Amino acid sequence: NSFAEIDLGKAVNDNIKRCKYVKPTPIQRHAIPIAMAGRDLMACAQTGSGKTAAFCFPIISGVMRGQSTPPAWGRGQRIASPVALILSPTRELSCQIHEEAKKFAYQTGVKVVVAYGGAPISQQFRNLEKGVDILVATPGRLVDMIERSRVSLRMIKYLALDEADRMLDMGFEPQIRRIVEQMEMPPTGARQTMLFSATFPTEIQRLASDFLSDYIFLAV
Ligand code: AMP
Repeated sequence: NSFAEIDLGKAVNDNIKRCKYVKPTPIQRHAIPIAMAGRDLMACAQTGSGKTAAFCFPIISGVMRGQSTPPAWGRGQRIASPVALILSPTRELSCQIHEEAKKFAYQTGVKVVVAYGGAPISQQFRNLEKGVDILVATPGRLVDMIERSRVSLRMIKYLALDEADRMLDMGFEPQIRRIVEQMEMPPTGARQTMLFSATFPTEIQRLASDFLSDYIFLAV
């Protein structure tokens, strides 16, 4: 019933203290140990439940253990290859997740970058060029970046889909499927996928059975 009991690593635990999180919320208490054990997860969670930290902590901790940050590159056209992807429906939510994830990743060396539509793509490309471990993105903008060969999802080991029901309501299912297709057969071993949704209609169940393997269902 405390964060210290979960082996997230010292740096992440220090950041949790800095954020003044004293004890895990119910979703965190259940989801984090499942994710840390490497299992796929489908969680029914509302806004305000603390779901952002529930998927960010295990991802950051896993990326740290993998030590995979590629060096930043210069002016070349090298393709960004994050190891973790967090998909969310809107610019606002993506920015919120990015801000939180940066706090959780403070002084860990893990680089978090955000990409969303409705803003110039060039600045977002420049941010990617500085190096990226965790990419937070909206589906449409990410497809655009993939089509321009600026982002590769070949190295993705962690995938989180936040507010999956809202993404489907907004018509993002084709984009999400295209994105997930890009990461089949990761060369670095199996991908871990976490799907968060406030509701659990048949379309979400279908996504879960298509994208998750041997997953644990969590409703809090
Ligand atoms: P979320 O559901 O992820 O949008 O989180 C809702 C709010 O709760 C955010 O402002 C978080 O910073 C905060 N929060 C998340 N987890 C905790 C925690 N364990 N203790 C205190 N506040 C938290």
